[in-house]
Amino acid sequence: MSQNIEGKVIVITGASSGMGEAAAKHLAKLGAAVVLGARRSDKIEKLAKEIAADGGKALAIATDVTRSDQVRKLVDLAVEKFGRVDVLLNNAGIMPLSPMDRLNVDEWDRMIDVNIKGVLNGIAAALPYMKEQKSGHIINTASVAGHKIFAGSAVYSATKFAVRALTEGLRTEVKPYNIRTTIVSPGAVKTELLEHITEADVQQANKDYVGAVGLSPESFARVVEFAISQPEDMDINEIIFRPTAQEL
Ligand code: NDP
Repeated sequence: MSQNIEGKVIVITGASSGMGEAAAKHLAKLGAAVVLGARRSDKIEKLAKEIAADGGKALAIATDVTRSDQVRKLVDLAVEKFGRVDVLLNNAGIMPLSPMDRLNVDEWDRMIDVNIKGVLNGIAAALPYMKEQKSGHIINTASVAGHKIFAGSAVYSATKFAVRALTEGLRTEVKPYNIRTTIVSPGAVKTELLEHITEADVQQANKDYVGAVGLSPESFARVVEFAISQPEDMDINEIIFRPTAQEL
């Protein structure tokens, strides 16, 4: 399944932990050159070194996806060093779940900034190159919470519904440029995501659940591999995956 991955230049946001990190390792093993962005530069630099030591190609640059100038630099780096950008994996995201009546308004803002504007900043940075190349692939990480809403998920779900909406809108517009678009909606996956939930009761309930049923982040990496590795005339537009035991 990896025949259409070797030699591709793949930019990954949120590559410092969890699913982004797993995807970076997996795609680099399959022969892609990966360009890693996240705020924790120590983590992505270490990962890039590990990939290089393993014979792969990787670069890292500190990137806050809420800053359009930094996201542009990330994508520019890929083009400067590797000559093109074949895939953008807009994966950075945060999930500080809470009931709305707790009025964690700063967290609402932050989710909108990272989960929606961060994805838009990625699209704005990569699209001009992909148009010029007349090829490219934009993969956006949404969520099962972008299909289903539950108590505590209102704002997070709203941001992931938005990711799905803007990815589908993009799909309909980029046909002339031969660009593919994929929405990946994971279910429960064991990552650092729950560490940033500030409401102790909400965090504990989620940790209990994800701890019991959650998949490893490599599950996401395999899904991304599947989407990219299809022949260029096949566009995998949306994938939902869950732990088999997940009811939601
Ligand atoms: P992690 O917390 O392990 O990873 C999140 C990544 O996003 C980190 O690399 C983090 O890097 C990065 N990030 C957060 N804020 C910013 C920012 N402002 N700028 C750049 N990078 C940022 O969680 P996951 O791997 O689980 O999350 C990856 C994606 O998957 C997210 O979009 C999440 O919403 C989604 N998702 C996760 C599910 C799960 O069950 N785990 C289920 C469904 C969707 P750093 O802190 O270094 O900046």
